[in-house]
Amino acid sequence: MTKISNRVIVFCLMLLCLICPASAYTTQYYWSNGYVGYTIDSSVPTAYKSCVDAAANAWTNAGADFDYYSSVNSNNKVRYYSFGSQVNYLGSCTRYVYSGTTRLSKMYIDLNSDYSSSWSTSTPCPSGKYDVLSVFTHEFGHGVGLGHSTITSATMFKDTNSGTVYKRSLEQDDKNGIIAIYGT
Ligand SMILES: [Zn+2]
Repeated sequence: MTKISNRVIVFCLMLLCLICPASAYTTQYYWSNGYVGYTIDSSVPTAYKSCVDAAANAWTNAGADFDYYSSVNSNNKVRYYSFGSQVNYLGSCTRYVYSGTTRLSKMYIDLNSDYSSSWSTSTPCPSGKYDVLSVFTHEFGHGVGLGHSTITSATMFKDTNSGTVYKRSLEQDDKNGIIAIYGT
């Protein structure tokens, strides 16, 4: 009897370990071809362009069968403009899908120029400032098809704190998310 009880307990613990990490990230959409170009719009300040490429590369190097590449004339645009009344949003990723599917056809990644006096590209990020690269890395995660994660340290958690740069690098949960969509 003792042996049987032990086996039951071990089995339950294994199940918990398997279920918990998988419930953190969320997947929403996918590209049928895991090779997605983007074009940096002329509205993006020159000083931020390297952040765009670094953000895209973080996902290219996440271990999934997926690549972002910079293109001169892609339908997918990265822009910098005023969000107007949507003052709480640092950035956004607008995604378009083919009718009746979750298959992506186009995306726009935008950085809110209303925060022009609050953006930073410095390391570390000064107190009260927001890190451009962190926000782009988060939005490019939406660009691969991910939703928000419940893990607060993950790049795909919904909020970005001022004075931090930790979202520049992907957590295992973020990598698990993109691998869940595209495989390795
Ligand atoms: Zn988000």
